Amino acid sequence: MSVAQHRPIIDEAWNVEVNGRSYRWPRRPVVVICYDGCDPAYVEAACRDGIVPNLARMRADGFDGVALAAMPTFTNPNNVSIVCGAPPSVHGISGNYFLDVESGEAVMMLDDAGMIARTILSGFSRGGAEVATVTAKDKLLKALAKDLDGVAFSAEKADKATLAANGIEDATRLVGRPTPGQYQPDLSLFVLDAGVRLLEEHAPDLVYLSLSDLVQHSHAPGTPEANAFMAEVDARVGRLIALGATVGIVADHGMTDMALEDGSPNVVYLGDALDARFGVGRTRVICPITDPFVRHHGALGGFVRVHVLDPELEAGEVLAEVAATDGVDLALVRDEACARFELPADREADIVVVAEAGVAIGARAADHDLSQLAGTRLRSHGGLAEQRVPFILSRPLNAAYRARAEDTLRNFDIFDFAINGTD
Ligand code: ZN
Ligand code: ZN
Repeated sequence: MSVAQHRPIIDEAWNVEVNGRSYRWPRRPVVVICYDGCDPAYVEAACRDGIVPNLARMRADGFDGVALAAMPTFTNPNNVSIVCGAPPSVHGISGNYFLDVESGEAVMMLDDAGMIARTILSGFSRGGAEVATVTAKDKLLKALAKDLDGVAFSAEKADKATLAANGIEDATRLVGRPTPGQYQPDLSLFVLDAGVRLLEEHAPDLVYLSLSDLVQHSHAPGTPEANAFMAEVDARVGRLIALGATVGIVADHGMTDMALEDGSPNVVYLGDALDARFGVGRTRVICPITDPFVRHHGALGGFVRVHVLDPELEAGEVLAEVAATDGVDLALVRDEACARFELPADREADIVVVAEAGVAIGARAADHDLSQLAGTRLRSHGGLAEQRVPFILSRPLNAAYRARAEDTLRNFDIFDFAINGTD
């Protein structure tokens, strides 16, 4: 679909129409934070320990809910869902990787290629609003900044930002410190600091800040490391609220411990199992969590796709084998998976597989490098067990949205609630 078909409609009341939802013009800055990998348990533990006063105040005085993330519970599909206000079936991004069946190549969905919907951010920016987005990881930037006329940069490459490409020259000058390393929690804090500085200097109408789940992959809720990070995030959230913003916090997915009692990863290598059962090369398991820039999960998560490559082989036979495999919670054929999880059919595999809680599904053992996990328990995401995420707002909901919140909330409702649901 062309961009023209997605032109935002601004009516006389200055409502912006994006992907079938209407957003009113923000009367004060709205900041939405995608707290990557923040399972509700992290918030609970930190509040219990009394170390996140601003989050606690938001929950008490604003709105405190739990929403369901889009499936699969990976970073890219959910960030794109959040900024589009719509599920993957609408925007087209359903994983980090997919198999190009024609070429037999696993192709990375790195940028906005294949993204068929407009974002709320671009809709407002095209309508004349001041819009900004900052992401920890550069790989997400193209998707978040699609058709966006405003400030858009990644913490990872903040020093490389240019006025022409990012709407800001060298963003480290804005934040006042150098670009943090890719594997430091500071990468996420840099994003939040940038948000604070943008609010101070640029008076934006709409801001989207997307963090990294580095800490959550390595540390369980309530641990000193996780709590220390929560407290740092909380301090910055407090500053955003103090600057007059309506702040909405949501996550792209939760996080589950996927290790056995002895600390080794609890993995089912489905690719090896299918090779043993049907012969090598007749099926192919794709792990859409695969991310060459992220080493802390060994490309293991709770969701994989199985392609049946041999036309002689019945998909039903493979489905039965997958469904009977220990550790598999759900095995669905393409159409069933697309209907149930609101996925785009054109990039979907023959069979969609969801692991049981606490189990990771891999392709073949040889495909996964677990050396980076040495000494730490595998914590990851991708399945239904990581679908619950916090949905927290700094202001109370109006009556209409209080009523809507009685139904199941989705993480991609957050812009709607933050913009239209607060008075
Ligand atoms: Zn994530
Ligand atoms: Zn992750």
